[in-house]
Amino acid sequence: MINAVIFGPPGAGKGTQSDKLIKKFGFVHISTGDLFRWHTKNDTPLVKKVKEIMNSGALVPDEITIAMLKEELDKNPQAKGFLFDGFPRTVPQAEALDKFMKENGSAIHHIIALEVSEAELRARIAKRRGIENRADDEEEKLNRRITEYFGKTIHVLPYYKNQGRLHVINGVGAIDDIFGNICKVIEGK
Ligand code: AMP
Repeated sequence: MINAVIFGPPGAGKGTQSDKLIKKFGFVHISTGDLFRWHTKNDTPLVKKVKEIMNSGALVPDEITIAMLKEELDKNPQAKGFLFDGFPRTVPQAEALDKFMKENGSAIHHIIALEVSEAELRARIAKRRGIENRADDEEEKLNRRITEYFGKTIHVLPYYKNQGRLHVINGVGAIDDIFGNICKVIEGK
């Protein structure tokens, strides 16, 4: 069983690369962003607690996020490997994930961090703004999410780096080249 985390700021291409990785390696994909959106769409009891937070682009509290993740893991006892996308975003989440994996006699084997600089991401947004001439809520929210990433989430990287599990991949370039570099990590080449 190989388990991996794909890590990176909003707009770095995590979704695109995840789709390709699932096809190639047969991972069960766990995206906490998708799970929260599923709850919102289906108006579950969790929505009351998370909707406003999500709408602002801030992070949902660890307690709620970790419980939701655990539930999802428990639904997939037959998985041959998991790809975590958008989780962990804080050190307590990373610790919880290691604990859950250990309980199942497994581990997170690869942490793949797509590196795209804050300046590059903000330049992309600014460019879009220039073309479309708009400054709507979505863009404010995206700005907030980028701020959350560089203010909070990026601090998860040293946790993995100190344990020698971190692989930083340049997230700027052709999709297939980036994918090739990720595959090399997973295949141990
Ligand atoms: P995403 O699509 O992964 O960017 O997630 C969308 C939103 O869901 C984020 O802006 C957060 O509000 C929330 N969210 C997703 N994953 C997490 C997480 N691991 N920890 C806290 N909040 C999360």
